[in-house]
Amino acid sequence: MKIDHSMMRQLIRANRGKGGFTYTHHNPFDADNAAIIAESNRDGFTINLSSNKVTEADALAALGIAPVVTILPTGSTKVTYTAEGRKVVRCPAETSEKVTCQTCRLCQKTDRPIIGFTPHGSGKKVTEKVANG
Ligand code: SF4
Repeated sequence: MKIDHSMMRQLIRANRGKGGFTYTHHNPFDADNAAIIAESNRDGFTINLSSNKVTEADALAALGIAPVVTILPTGSTKVTYTAEGRKVVRCPAETSEKVTCQTCRLCQKTDRPIIGFTPHGSGKKVTEKVANG
């Protein structure tokens, strides 16, 4: 499915100075999608590429256009590594009740490790968004 470039640019403009972020399952291997995803990340509206498993996360990260989030197996430790050696950090809200997206904001950063979500943590709603968004 193609991302609508003009709609995306409206979102990028509306986000100026607000530090927004989102997640996508749109195909980033499609050149048009990749171009607008990269543009959005350059312009401050962070689009995370969502993968449903760690084995997919390496391929998404290798594109170099966006930060990556992934679903982790239940019970994963706070830090794990992909098959290609990329660091995966569990969403801190899953392991601390004090952390929220507003205080954490890791998903807004483009220069950071892959973030992982486990299906049964306190971040279950975010996990569902990552899995289905
Ligand atoms: S709390 Fe988790 S979902 Fe929210 S910004 Fe941080 S890493 Fe992302």
